Amino acid sequence: QHRSREQIERITAMIDREQVRFINLEFTDVVGVVKSVTIPVEQFSTCLSRGKWFDGSALEGFARIAESDMYLFPDLSTFTILPDTVRHLPAMPSGQRYELSNSDSVARVICNVHTPDGQIFDGDPRAALLRAREIARSMGFEFRVAPELEFFLLRFENKTPVPLPHDRGGYFDLSTDLAATIRQQMAYTLQKMGISIEASHHEVAEGQHELDFGMSEALQVADGLVTAKYALKSIASQQGLYATFLPKPFYGVNGSGLHIHQQLFSLETGKNAFVDEQAEYGLSDVARGFIAGQLAHARAMCAILAPLVNSYKRLVRGFEAPVVINWGRVNRQALIRVPRLSTDTQSSMRIELRCTDSSCNPYLALAVMLRAGLDGIQRKLTLPAPMDENLFLQDENERLQPRTRLLPATLGEALEGMREDSLIHETLGDSIYEGFIDAKSIEWTEYRQQVHSWEIERYLPMF
Ligand code: GLN
Ligand code: MG
Ligand code: MG
Ligand code: MG
Repeated sequence: QHRSREQIERITAMIDREQVRFINLEFTDVVGVVKSVTIPVEQFSTCLSRGKWFDGSALEGFARIAESDMYLFPDLSTFTILPDTVRHLPAMPSGQRYELSNSDSVARVICNVHTPDGQIFDGDPRAALLRAREIARSMGFEFRVAPELEFFLLRFENKTPVPLPHDRGGYFDLSTDLAATIRQQMAYTLQKMGISIEASHHEVAEGQHELDFGMSEALQVADGLVTAKYALKSIASQQGLYATFLPKPFYGVNGSGLHIHQQLFSLETGKNAFVDEQAEYGLSDVARGFIAGQLAHARAMCAILAPLVNSYKRLVRGFEAPVVINWGRVNRQALIRVPRLSTDTQSSMRIELRCTDSSCNPYLALAVMLRAGLDGIQRKLTLPAPMDENLFLQDENERLQPRTRLLPATLGEALEGMREDSLIHETLGDSIYEGFIDAKSIEWTEYRQQVHSWEIERYLPMF
């Protein structure tokens, strides 16, 4: 791992200046949960040179017992002081709380996972994105993305979650209530942590909000997303609220997605590789191949992009979420949309993938999206015609569509799709691929065997 002397000096100075007392070492597991180990600052230099040991086999789908010794190595470029609103410290095993004075601070740094012989552990989701990024680089591209993070702010009334009351906002409504204040605080806090937020607004459903990230290099954005989710939960909880990223918390109401705007940036020309002013829709061959690749692998990627049983309750018709595997320019139901944001095509030309939701592991999601797109470029896949709104209406009946042109309808179907795709397997590597499929198959089977209250209400009076 390359670390420059200046980088270490800069961080040591920051630790002194900000009186950092604890450092959270963060990474994610295969199913996307953020893991964090807190160390006192005195241990940081040992951690930099030798890594911080942990038992990898204790994490779901992470490592087999045989490869349980793992070491966390901080990526110093991600070292950030946690703002006061986010500086949660886990309780010590004794149940005691760490004592911090007001001038003390806590930092977080994102880590790569290494094996005892010093190799990068291929089961680490961040490593999967690092590998995909290298492949893009070898083809002359940098992958840039900008997610739109949707979530609900809830309050619990007698253990029942309800959307934040007094929150009568709708899509883009201007309101000055508590929700608007919290949203501003969220955007401000993330900015302070170096995560660029371009906009924030109320979403269509009551109590639903959105934060729009600025376009940046994919690894940076994935790191930021991981942090943003717990930071937002922490800020909400200080107001007695619960922020949820569950894709479909309420039946009959819009769910929460994580649309991802994507660009390939040419390392050779320093320009947006998706732009060709002369071509149809302004889309270059690179862009056309990339979209075609993501469409071709959509069924197989879906389990990674939308990994919960609940994710598939969101991917239904009527709630601005995609169902059909298609692309369009203005079509809000399209799986991939090519929005026209401004007349400056260089910065605004991007493609927006809309099936993704925030329960995904962002490293894995961006890795499979990137590889799927690059595969379309390499194999020169042809892009089908766009499906625009009026055409779409005629073609609306999804029952008439062959199954291969629809997104999976359940997690079970998504896992089947994933098993049939060798590119996705290769992108994730054996360890993640097997760990993910095992964990998710158990989850799906457990769900499938439940007897739902809907079934009792509907059938018991009849049978
Ligand atoms: N909430 C919708 C979804 O589930 C998106 C709504 C929007 O941003 N137009 O994807
Ligand atoms: Mg939006
Ligand atoms: Mg939205
Ligand atoms: Mg969008």
